[in-house]
Amino acid sequence: MTKDYDFIIIGAGPAGMTAAVYASRAGMRTALLEAGAPGGKLLKTNKISNWPGIKEEPGSQLAMDMFEHSTSFGAVYEYGNVTEIRDGERKQVICQDGTVFTAPAVLVATGTKERLLGIPGEEEHIGRGISYCAVCDGAFSRNQDVAVIGGGNSALEESVYLTQFASKVYIVMRRDVFRAEQAVIEAARSNPKIEILQNYRPVQVMDKEGKVGGLEIAHAQSGEKKLLPVTGIFPYIGADPVTGFLKELPVLDKQGYMLVNSEMETVVSLLYGAGDVCQKGLRQVVTAASDGAIAAQSAFQKLRSLALL
Ligand code: NAP
Repeated sequence: MTKDYDFIIIGAGPAGMTAAVYASRAGMRTALLEAGAPGGKLLKTNKISNWPGIKEEPGSQLAMDMFEHSTSFGAVYEYGNVTEIRDGERKQVICQDGTVFTAPAVLVATGTKERLLGIPGEEEHIGRGISYCAVCDGAFSRNQDVAVIGGGNSALEESVYLTQFASKVYIVMRRDVFRAEQAVIEAARSNPKIEILQNYRPVQVMDKEGKVGGLEIAHAQSGEKKLLPVTGIFPYIGADPVTGFLKELPVLDKQGYMLVNSEMETVVSLLYGAGDVCQKGLRQVVTAASDGAIAAQSAFQKLRSLALL
């Protein structure tokens, strides 16, 4: 099946949903393709406290509000698990189920996917005590000890979130330097349920009757090993861009992030990138939304100038 639009947005996170608002308000026939639920990382974030105008709100609420807004001017929400984009006068966005979406302009806003620890015992315990989403699975940790891996904003924020359920939260960091913002570090440090273990790397996930029975960690310098008596493990060690379907196009850096100019356009004419999937300095909801707005507006102006609208 082929479906034709003026503008196709791949990914319904903050970048894609903002682009949908701008593109549809400008009058473009817009498709917003998503393979999961709309909201992107917002769905996995407990509280958002740096979206201007809203002091604090659950990520899921902001996701729902953005989604309703994104389709309120006529953008069409479509299911699509994209496997390839073919360039041409009309670009073809090819999906796993055989559906082909075509449009002269395409925006990729697929964000990033969580990294795995890559240690023994991890894979077989995913969903059996290992979770990459505290908001989704934190409640299973009621009155239990858990470990969070990483020293960035995600690890520290989600550790604080987990303290409302868990009796104790260990934060395991491989260095003694945080990547998180100061306010987030203070919140974690001042929480009596949190113990921060610096210079330790996770070595092995222990099993107990098919579920997580502990986490072995080793000191980065001395090699000294410790066994944390945890039943839950939440790795927050960063993420990689979701750009596998773009491999054939010259638009990625070595890490797989999209390279875009100030108009959010790649070297492929009328192919845009926005949000966390791009090579950039600050990955935030607000910067993703900004990228999405710029990309949609740039596409609209270019399509108009080429008489393609
Ligand atoms: P991040 O900032 O890249 O931090 C990743 C953490 O995991 C670092 O402490 C890193 O240690 C550690 N790490 C990486 N690989 C590891 C491994 N194999 N074993 C053990 N530890 C490992 O990732 P993030 O926290 O997911 O954040 C991603 C982006 O989203 C950032 O730009 C962040 O600012 C943004 N974000 C913002 C907010 C907010 O503003 N509220 C919330 C969440 C995320 P090293 O430092 O040693 O590399």
